[in-house]
Amino acid sequence: MSPATLEKASEKVVSAPKVRRTKLLINGEWVDSRSGKTFATYNPATEEKIADVAEGDAADIDLAAKAARKAFESGPWSKMDARDRGRLLNKLADLAETHLEELAGLETLDNGKPIADSRAADLPLAIDCLRYYAGWADKLVGETVPIRGNYFCYTKREPVGVAGQIIPWNFPLLMVAWKWAPALAAGCTIVMKPAEQTPLSCLRFAELALEAGIPPGVINVVPGYGPTAGAALVKHPDVDKIAFTGEHRTAQIIMADAAQTLKRLTFELGGKSPNIIFADCDLDAAVAGTEFGLFFNQGQCCCAGSRVFVEQSIHEKFVEKLIARAKQRKVGNPFDPSTTQGPQVDKAQFDKILSYIGKGNEAGAKCVTGGKRIGDKGFFIEPTVFDRVTDDMPIATDEIFGPVMSVLPFKDFDEVVTRANKTIFGLAAAVWTRDVGKAHRIAKSVRAGTVWVNCYDVFDAAAPFGGFKMSGIGRELGAAALNNYTELKTVTMSLD
Ligand code: ADP
Repeated sequence: MSPATLEKASEKVVSAPKVRRTKLLINGEWVDSRSGKTFATYNPATEEKIADVAEGDAADIDLAAKAARKAFESGPWSKMDARDRGRLLNKLADLAETHLEELAGLETLDNGKPIADSRAADLPLAIDCLRYYAGWADKLVGETVPIRGNYFCYTKREPVGVAGQIIPWNFPLLMVAWKWAPALAAGCTIVMKPAEQTPLSCLRFAELALEAGIPPGVINVVPGYGPTAGAALVKHPDVDKIAFTGEHRTAQIIMADAAQTLKRLTFELGGKSPNIIFADCDLDAAVAGTEFGLFFNQGQCCCAGSRVFVEQSIHEKFVEKLIARAKQRKVGNPFDPSTTQGPQVDKAQFDKILSYIGKGNEAGAKCVTGGKRIGDKGFFIEPTVFDRVTDDMPIATDEIFGPVMSVLPFKDFDEVVTRANKTIFGLAAAVWTRDVGKAHRIAKSVRAGTVWVNCYDVFDAAAPFGGFKMSGIGRELGAAALNNYTELKTVTMSLD
């Protein structure tokens, strides 16, 4: 099935929205980069250029950081009541809802994700996140502390200052919401560098933030490349904190770059998450959850359930059902509402995924479905399942970030726990079983920031998310994320 065939088959193919913003947003103004340079952003379904976007660099980051500093220290943001900050976040959520179709379309255009997913997942989750943190803005309270002597001691939570935020391309707008919402609720100002592959929805969202009444300079957006714009943001002395989502190797560079200014750092990084299927599970639910847990978003999820451990006694049956489901996925034009899998985000990812499929074959894993490119235009790859994968094969150790699943049979509980933990990562894990005790024992034994039981990829703005080991530092979402954007201050007053 080719993308073109699918396009003809559907009558309700959505048209791509108009691109309204391609410049940098600094201090409330849309400006060209100081160098005058631009870079192209491409539609991964057609490989055609969508637009040229202003390419920020160190000089632009400097202007943006200074604007954010000023807005933080002396601008209207510093004087605004916390409750009013919450009101503005709610207003932005309302505007996102009003423009849901346009924003979902931009996301699909720039990233390639199916429009059905942009509409049903990315946008609603982003909007919910804004509303959740809007509620937190006026609830960041301290404590009174009973210390020795005749003193009154209390703590208060203050904004950390200027937050530098660097995000990836897999959930462009959702990452914006995860980063902006807690930062704004806490009273920080922002310089954001979106991913070079997907800057468009972030720029349009920033325009809506201005429309919502968030004052100029509070949110600055500087698209550009990592080693230039990103690195300049990490090193800038006016930036107090870096929140980064991306690869662990990039995080290592950021950590070294941040040492000079001792920036606060939070990282949400990659994974190689174990998805454990016990023989006593609800088999159909487990198969459906396993398919979703890996293939959702073209496999481009940091928490993708890419190592599927299946208990030996149900292994054959499970794989048979899994193949049937993988084959049913509708790969094609992401603007067709019936499409369930779009293209990979760009040529680099596409090539990397195909090279891992090659490595899986070379290592002797059994490719039971998929394994090839679809069509000759756009970065489409068949949903691919490898069976009989062993722990040391590259497809079992490395994050592939594509629609490639590894099935690894196991014998018993202790064995699967040891093997599940045999990874440098610790972002997420899942277990499928009807035995409550077993589920809790897995939840206790697996070293991962999130454990799903009889479900996968259940996200909520209120539930903290982040990694053990090399999957990250700190937590996003929930009350936990507010710690990333606040400093604790202790005040002690003599009562004499
Ligand atoms: P991915 O492989 O998903 O693109 P990256 O970690 O390379 O993951 O990219 C995530 C984000 O980090 C992007 O916005 C990218 O531009 C940025 N980035 C890449 N290298 C650096 C760097 N040296 N310093 C700061 N940011 C960087």
